[in-house]
Order: sequence, then C-alpha cells, then structure tokens
Amino acid sequence: MERACFLLESIQSAFRSDDLPKPAQPAQPTTSARANAAMLGVALGDALGATLEFMTPSEIRHQFGLHHEIIGGGWLHLKPGQITDDTGMMLALSDAILQNNGQVIPLACAKAFDGWMRNRPVDIGNTVRRGIVHFRLSGQTAVQPSVEAAGNGALMRCLPVILATFGADETETMAAWQAQAHVTHNNALSDLSGALFMQLIHAALAGASKRQLLNEVAHPFAKAHPEFTFRPKRRDYPSGYVIDTVQAVLQAFFDTDSFDECLVEVVNRGGDSDTTGAIAGMLAGAHYGLGAIPARWLKQLDPHIRERCTSEGEKLLPRSQLQ
Ligand code: MG
Ligand code: MG
Repeated sequence: MERACFLLESIQSAFRSDDLPKPAQPAQPTTSARANAAMLGVALGDALGATLEFMTPSEIRHQFGLHHEIIGGGWLHLKPGQITDDTGMMLALSDAILQNNGQVIPLACAKAFDGWMRNRPVDIGNTVRRGIVHFRLSGQTAVQPSVEAAGNGALMRCLPVILATFGADETETMAAWQAQAHVTHNNALSDLSGALFMQLIHAALAGASKRQLLNEVAHPFAKAHPEFTFRPKRRDYPSGYVIDTVQAVLQAFFDTDSFDECLVEVVNRGGDSDTTGAIAGMLAGAHYGLGAIPARWLKQLDPHIRERCTSEGEKLLPRSQLQ
C-alpha cells in the first residue's frame, strides 16, 4: 500500500503542470521598441488616412471597398508614403525636445512649429496657423484660451512630449503638455485629451494589457469627464473636434486586436482620417510594439520619415526609463 501511494505521488509529480513543457510565450516588446513603434504609428496612420481625409464612410466604400494600403492621393494629391502636418509637427516637436536634452521648453516648441511652417508644409490647420502667426507677431508662446481651440491639433503632434515625460509625475507631464499645446491650442478639452493620452500611452509603454488600458484608464477617465464617453454610440465621420477624434480612436483601438486592424478601422470612418489614423497609430504602436507593424506599410513610408521614426522614439525617453 505504501509503495502504491509512493508510485501515485511519483506519477502525479511527474505530470505536475509546472513540469510540463510550456508553449513559447511571445516576448513582450521593450519600452524602447514601443516608443519607436508609436512614432512610426503616427506616420503610418497619417500616410494611410490622408488618402481618405474629408470623405464620408459611404464614399470610401464606394471608391475603395475597404482602404488598407498606403497609396497616397486624397485631396492633397500625396505621393504614396508621404505624410502631412500631423507627422511634420510631431517631428518638429521631437527636434525641439532632443536639442534641449529632453526638456520641453515653450519657446523651443514655438520656434520649432514656426520653422516647420516656414518650410511650406503640404497642409496646415487654421488654429495652428493662427497660433504660429501669433507667436511671430508677439513673441508669446501661448495663445489666449478659446472655445474654438477644441480641435485635435495639439493632440495629433504630442507624442514626443509623452515619451519625454515617461515616468514623470502628473504636474510635470501636464506642464510639458501645455508648453507644446498652448502655442496654438489653449482649451480645456484639448488639455483633457492630452491628459488622457498621457495616461494611456505611459501605461502602454509600461506594458499594460488592453483590458487594463480600458478598465483602469479609459473608462475611469470618461467617468470623471463625461464628454470623453466613447460608448455605446459609434463615431463615424469624425471631425477635427477633439472629442470626435478621441471617440473614434478609442473605439477603433479597443474593438480590434492588431496594429493594422486598428488603423484600418479608424481611417475607414473618414472625416479627419489622417489625424485619427495618426493618433490611433501612436496608441496602437505603443501597445503592440514594432513587431506588429506590417512590413509592407513600412516599405511604403517615405524613407526619411521611416528612418527618423524608427530610432527617435527611444531617444526621447528619459535615460532612467530605458530598458
Ligand atoms: Mg494632416
Ligand atoms: Mg487631419
């Protein structure tokens, strides 16, 4: 009897689940890879979505079926892989931060945006233009608060600030947000959108699961700020109003399971599709990492932009946060 028990124990211990060979777990992306993927995500979402900017979902279906390749065109007659103001301003902001050793300085941000506008970008929003002209004429790095500035122009370009403040406290992150945002957009809803994406992307960089991003960041934020409620009504044809933009992006991100599905889902809603693409791209890039980005999209992207985005995200991260 004793021997039988011994045998049973031996058999049980041999097959204890701890001892069974485990299926290989995919490696989690590093923080650096997530940061670079977020930068690439902005450029890819911009380039993918620009084809459809200002179109309605039914016009898109009629002309493209489902739009899922980077082909250029659109109202700006872009080359395949060409980017617009969303990525252009993000890279200008990135320069301003890197040249100041990771500090987000209002004057440096304003000068960077001014320099970007002097280089005759392919497009520029009215609020952005007004803010930069205000800086040129007055030397002031913040416009007056205004209700009209509730557009998505500060959110679309903000990623370098989010990366540079990874690990910082809320006071510091919001001061950095305002340094870049208030050059052109001084508005409470725009600032709130910045606070939301700071939290989402900082959590994604730290490896939060999608469920955590939803239940610990997005839903509590919408509960505290009901304007940002993104359920249950589907947001199609999102305008440049920052609430429309955030709703479309969060729906596309939380209702899909991969980087490319998320971007395809959001840009096919039309409207301000280059900007929803760019913002969805930064969130999806930070969450899914470099390995999830389709090679064919990377190949299509303007090589100069691809090169900058592939390495610049990790340079923006504070050294203390590098893995
Ligand atoms: Mg654009
Ligand atoms: Mg746009």
